[in-house]
Amino acid sequence: MRNKSRQIRLGDLLIGGGSPISIQSMCTTDTSDVLATVAQIKELEQVGCQVARVAVPDVPAGDALAKILREVSIPLVADIHFDYRLALQAIAAGVQGLRINPGNIGSDTNVQKVVAAAKDYKTPIRIGVNAGSLDKKWLTKYGVSAQALVESALEHVAILERCGFEQIKISVKASSVPLMVESYRSLAQKVDYPLHLGVTEAGDDYAGLIKSSMGIGALLLDGIGDTIRVSLTANPVQEVLAGKEILKGLGLRKGLQIVSCPTCGRTKIDLIGLAKKVKEALSAYQELDMKVAVMGCIVNGPQEAKEADYGVAGGVNEGLLFAKGKIVKKVPEAELLCELIKLIEQREG
Ligand code: SF4
Repeated sequence: MRNKSRQIRLGDLLIGGGSPISIQSMCTTDTSDVLATVAQIKELEQVGCQVARVAVPDVPAGDALAKILREVSIPLVADIHFDYRLALQAIAAGVQGLRINPGNIGSDTNVQKVVAAAKDYKTPIRIGVNAGSLDKKWLTKYGVSAQALVESALEHVAILERCGFEQIKISVKASSVPLMVESYRSLAQKVDYPLHLGVTEAGDDYAGLIKSSMGIGALLLDGIGDTIRVSLTANPVQEVLAGKEILKGLGLRKGLQIVSCPTCGRTKIDLIGLAKKVKEALSAYQELDMKVAVMGCIVNGPQEAKEADYGVAGGVNEGLLFAKGKIVKKVPEAELLCELIKLIEQREG
């Protein structure tokens, strides 16, 4: 069961209110470099990214937005800190979303100007609170804690609500998984705005993947979260691929799943090599709702392979091929990959 959240719209993409959980990423390019940014967004889109965020630190980046928007088809979110004029520039350029904290942009007049423009252009705003940049007021009161993150987010929310603006999405990210999970759980009890999940500054593509999977996964299993970003110190394409795996692993998204055993003393074929090759060979089938099992032996292998749509269970220098719960044939090890792919291509067209 998912938490019931309100629904907002980023261009054509619905977030919250029971819509499928979407995957976001953030460009690493200099936003004012239109060619590089467009190329990266297209690359992200190709691997399944549904929302691309870009940093807008200055006027040249703001000037680039309209040009970028003309070239890409997924919603663009402008990430702005402190300067309300950049927010106005981004909204006028037509970005589908803003990430800005209204409490950080100065006077009430500034906030009102941004909100009025966001209302006019129907641009939702994400309030993004990070443990690493918490306001001194909350740090003094609560220290780095879930309470501080949540109270800070609620304060920003209240500012927007006072202006009659409710097209809001919220994130309360931290690099600590327990802190991030506690913060989102607490926030989800207090508001029904859609939540953007992420472990911030999670680390490289190893530590970061593990921390993001734990934090985002724990919350999604609780039914909390409407859109996700896996933050990695790596090419953002990896963030999108990881996001897809998290959603597929939790049964929240259809698509190709390859299960393979860890191998052990019973394995008599090169299973690690085979699993790698199967993954590569099936990379074009990511969108197909299909489970493929690559198993080392006949102990757990046949059962797992039978439960998958297609599978291999290794023997001694050979393996059994399975399809839809039935043994298809016995194949020499050297032909396993080829025969498995042939079988899938024949049946899935
Ligand atoms: Fe070992 Fe067989 Fe299990 Fe693979 S499936 S880990 S080879 S027992």
